[in-house]
Amino acid sequence: MDRNLSLITPTGRLTLGNHLGALRRFVAVQDLAASPDDCFFGLSDLHALTTAQDPAVLRATIREMATLFLAAGLDPARVTLFRQSMVPAHRELAYLLECTAYTGELNRMIQFKEKGRGVPSTRVSLYTYPALMAADILLYRPSRVPVGEDQRQHVELTRDLAIRFNHAYGAVFVVPEVTVPRVGARLMDLQDPTRKMSKSAEPDAGVIRLLDPPDVVRRKVARAITDSDVGPSAVRASPSAKPGVTNLLDILSACGGSAEGITTYGALKSAVTEAVVAALAPLQKAYAELAEDPGYVDSVFAEGSARCREVTASVLADATAAVGL
Ligand code: AMP
Repeated sequence: MDRNLSLITPTGRLTLGNHLGALRRFVAVQDLAASPDDCFFGLSDLHALTTAQDPAVLRATIREMATLFLAAGLDPARVTLFRQSMVPAHRELAYLLECTAYTGELNRMIQFKEKGRGVPSTRVSLYTYPALMAADILLYRPSRVPVGEDQRQHVELTRDLAIRFNHAYGAVFVVPEVTVPRVGARLMDLQDPTRKMSKSAEPDAGVIRLLDPPDVVRRKVARAITDSDVGPSAVRASPSAKPGVTNLLDILSACGGSAEGITTYGALKSAVTEAVVAALAPLQKAYAELAEDPGYVDSVFAEGSARCREVTASVLADATAAVGL
């Protein structure tokens, strides 16, 4: 199988969207892996620092996220779990790629334009982040990089940098293809269903966290925005006219529930609550057990990161030597 590589940035506590859109997919990919060198799943903790983070909160978020990777069913015997910050090659190659990228290219990155350009307190790292992301990818030599539409431009840049580097210094990098897989449900914020459910949303009344206890899930779903329609056809999907109801129906089906026979918003919200609570229960139970043994979680990520240091060493060495250092 093609080598798989995915990173999640610890900028907030994981949500139901992260579970359905990422962790659950990672577990499905793991089932196809022949060896832990086929799948690398990591926490991109360096990327978290492109915006302000409280160190204690960051540390806690990293630990919780690492534990949730295991609670979701990722198995260190079958996949490699790591932290980006524990694999120094990411930072080292990022510098060589900063020395390959042009400011004109980084100026065109949509995320920088939307989130940082023109704001005096924007961190330099938010600007150079695409070079680090290119290093994240190129170090592992994947032939394909499946990403959401929002990351496509960064992977296109990764390709451009790999091609430019290879042209200038010799064939060091595998130039990966970009693929945008058909995505499953994209969960939206319960309070603003035109915005995606995001782990860094503030306030987070519309965000279901993976570790929200059942009464919190119930309260958040009960307060979800619907609309003022009533009557027998009120409960139906229509992304433009009824984004809130559509989102609840998406969540219900993604969590294995059914809207059959449901005609009122109250009944829909009860069904959503029940389905979400049931979907989260096994994960929360596994989390509670793993959280008793943080040393185990740390050791899994330490060993995975050690494996990453081995796997990436030759790419970094080749790139370093190629530029003349
Ligand atoms: P992010 O939380 O935006 O860093 O995304 C990390 C991973 O979770 C990516 O693979 C996303 O596709 C997935 N993800 C994040 N939010 C959602 C959402 N609201 N619905 C579905 N998938 C999501």
